[in-house]
Amino acid sequence: MKVGVLGTGYVGLVAGAGFADFGNEVICVDIDAERVAALNRGEVPIHEPGLPELVRENLAAGRLSFGTDVAAAVRDAEVVLICVGTPPAESGQADLSQVDAAARAIGQALRQSPRQSLTVIINKSTVPVGTAERVHRIVVGELEGKANGDMAAAPSARPFAVVSNPEFLKEGSAVEDFLRPMRVIVGLGPTHGLDGPEDHSGTEKVRAIMRHLYHPVVRTNDRLLFCDARSAELCKYASNAYLATRISFINDIANLCERVGADVELVRRGMGMDTRIGPSFLFPGIGYGGSCFPKDTRALVSIAQAHGMGLPLIEAAERINARQRRLLADKLLGHFGVEGADPDARPLTGRTIAVWGLAFKPETDDVREAPALAIIEHLVRCGARVHATDPVANRTAAAALVQLGVGERVSFFHDAYEAATGADALMLCTEWRQFRQPNFTRLQQLLAGTGVFDGRNIWDPDELRKHGFRYYGIGRP
Ligand code: NAD
Repeated sequence: MKVGVLGTGYVGLVAGAGFADFGNEVICVDIDAERVAALNRGEVPIHEPGLPELVRENLAAGRLSFGTDVAAAVRDAEVVLICVGTPPAESGQADLSQVDAAARAIGQALRQSPRQSLTVIINKSTVPVGTAERVHRIVVGELEGKANGDMAAAPSARPFAVVSNPEFLKEGSAVEDFLRPMRVIVGLGPTHGLDGPEDHSGTEKVRAIMRHLYHPVVRTNDRLLFCDARSAELCKYASNAYLATRISFINDIANLCERVGADVELVRRGMGMDTRIGPSFLFPGIGYGGSCFPKDTRALVSIAQAHGMGLPLIEAAERINARQRRLLADKLLGHFGVEGADPDARPLTGRTIAVWGLAFKPETDDVREAPALAIIEHLVRCGARVHATDPVANRTAAAALVQLGVGERVSFFHDAYEAATGADALMLCTEWRQFRQPNFTRLQQLLAGTGVFDGRNIWDPDELRKHGFRYYGIGRP
């Protein structure tokens, strides 16, 4: 199949390279010309295991190419994927300006294309309910020449359909998730220039194209669910909000564990043994982050508000998460005897804190909404210096901390032990494999202080105590 992809971020790049790997001819376009040039050299601008190999192999085989010309990607394509960003607007609603621009560009390209057979426009971005209709309206507007004020132009009957096909990949295992998806949700949206509404052959054609596109990944099991576009759009938000709620739930229980002298690690393991509950997404810590959960929970709440209702459970999950992100810094202030002090009084002046892990989760260099950054910002505002280290996210974190206005108080290290050297306390924010079994004897010699703050409960409190550390975890006695 010929496939066009708009947007070469996490979603577009993985989908583009993945579909090319099945033998399709894929053209990926982005408005970021520098990114496109790097990709054409085989340089993948994000850290994602397996992705550089997938991109390079398919570039070399000539099945995958990158450019900035939307018309080239859309002209002959049977399917066009919209994979652009949907960042949160100030109100919490999803900002759809990138989706609108992509839809306009697709409409213009379709209008100019001589090809007369059906094109399926697949929305993979996470978007509010009703966006398939919105994309349809924009593309029809372009085909009819209205958007250009070109009222005299003959409307184009170029047939197309809009499908909502939300992406569920996880950063850090995105390639694996793409190749072995748990489910593929296809929400059938409005069509244009196909058969009449009483004749379902048009919809059948759309289903057949989507089945064909996903055939390589759903061969052994039918994990393909067809539904309407609105249900597909809501399914994505509801899934992310549910997972975020599980994290906030266990964080709430963790805090109760501290009060009552229970160990949340045992509580969560006991809970997870129940197959109705399961063990996933029940890890207490310093809160969820990343480019999806915070923005998608906010967007879902604002969708509900726009329809005159609240979502109290999800709103509570957000509040708990905001509190959880402050927890480790509060424990550290308590350790130094300045709990509750006004940050403006700079209670951590003269202290250096080593922070291990900056990415919002392991195996990615994405620091969007990473709890580590919020914690570092707070520590610096309280007067501390920070020695930061991450296996791959030093560069992205440095840029983000400069944006937050605290960059000059943070030094970055490649070596985790160097970061710890001379520090008054050590804080673990991301549970990278590399940090799981450090040499605590060496650390004890390198650190100037004794406080160790384990934001992901990956270390054994008894082992740390034996090494003379004061251990602080989440929800552990
Ligand atoms: P991203 O910000 O990493 O990438 C988006 C890309 O789209 C950028 O490179 C940008 O330059 C490009 N772009 C913007 N407007 C464009 C246009 N008109 N034409 C062509 N390119 C354009 O975003 P992402 O993380 O890949 O996420 C994309 C969407 O998928 C979002 O809606 C997100 O919520 C959703 N999603 C993300 C993930 C994830 O883990 N990152 C997982 C599932 C779903």
